[in-house]
Amino acid sequence: MGTVLVRFGELFLKSENVRRLYLRKLQHNMDLALTASGVEHEFEVHRDRLLVHGPDAAAIARVAARTFGLVDVAVCTQTGPTIPQMGAAAFALARRHLRAGMSFAVRARRQDVEGMTSQQIGAEVGSVIYDAIPGLRVDLSYPDYEVFVEARPYGGLVYDERVPAPGGLPFGTQERVLSLLSAGIDSPVATWQVMRRGCLVTHLTFDGGRWQGADVRDAVRRHHAALSTWCMGHPLDLLVADMEPFFEAMTAAADPHYRCLLCKRFMFRVASGVAGREGALALVTGDNLGQVASQTLANLGVIEAAADLPVLRPLLTYEKNEAVALARRIGTFDEDAGDLSCAAVPKRPATQAKLAMIEKEEAKFDLDGLVEEAVAGVRRVRAKNGVIVREDKRA
Ligand code: ATP
Ligand code: MG
Repeated sequence: MGTVLVRFGELFLKSENVRRLYLRKLQHNMDLALTASGVEHEFEVHRDRLLVHGPDAAAIARVAARTFGLVDVAVCTQTGPTIPQMGAAAFALARRHLRAGMSFAVRARRQDVEGMTSQQIGAEVGSVIYDAIPGLRVDLSYPDYEVFVEARPYGGLVYDERVPAPGGLPFGTQERVLSLLSAGIDSPVATWQVMRRGCLVTHLTFDGGRWQGADVRDAVRRHHAALSTWCMGHPLDLLVADMEPFFEAMTAAADPHYRCLLCKRFMFRVASGVAGREGALALVTGDNLGQVASQTLANLGVIEAAADLPVLRPLLTYEKNEAVALARRIGTFDEDAGDLSCAAVPKRPATQAKLAMIEKEEAKFDLDGLVEEAVAGVRRVRAKNGVIVREDKRA
């Protein structure tokens, strides 16, 4: 049997009641994720720490390191409450890494334990290691090796490797958002960012039919499936709205200059139409300020005027390389994404549109009818644990 120690981040900022609620949610999420991953586990819950026991501690740690609400994860040795017991466990870890000439540090903490100070634990555990392995140096600033020792009322916890977890708040502690998912790089990252803040998510994608590149549909599904691995054990739904009829009508009637704005405003209208029945309280996009013509401040404003809900843009101030780095980390970056083009993009898209001009363009075709039709025709694709489990059902 092994033990994994998980540490919470911001939960400490919460009141006692909220913290208890969030912790229960966190434990439930971990339980679902571990079960979905086929990892045997058992929880030991304490006020300040959560321990997870099981035969494969490394596997528990791998799942925990992808759990929102945790800052880091460590495979640890649980010992009795005395300094010699903690010292023996620390030495057992340290001997695998330390040789003559190397420096080390013991990082000790103590909580709700009487009869010893952190300094004392650090010094005494340090002596055990120092005396047993010849030629070591103690260096508290830049050690070659660190071992962590925590004295708690329920015993000692000893570990030497902390794996960073994503932080944030437990999935499902915030309300639902409707996240507009495209085949691009930014929008999957935007979804991940709001998931990390605890939001439940429904995805919405617009299928451009013959107007969109041949690989768009698959890329969107790949992103959707990949994002479902960040809420293992929970279903993640993707709503698919048809946009081909809109493209046909809009390109035939409107000034090409304004196409991208008209397209985004259509998306927001349809999104506003389905958000209510999904119970979503906000829309999410992967917009970056100034990245493309539709993302100037003026145009973001004109587009947002078509939404009935608040629009969240977690990547607004990101550099492209920052979004790419995050996409790689979360598993939504495609080295070769294929043809993701849009055939409706004009040569010179408007960068400084005025709402009045856009409304004049929208009056040239049956916008309300197209929105209504798209909302009524939405289909639902469900992903769970990294795979699509249900295709194209009428939502
Ligand atoms: P990204 O910006 O996500 O890399 P993109 O370049 O395809 O992808 P933009 O044209 O920059 O998207 O649009 C900005 C945002 O609008 C996207 O981040 C996404 O939230 C939304 N969006 C764009 N196209 C679609 C689509 N076909 N379905 C759903 N949402 C979309
Ligand atoms: Mg973009």
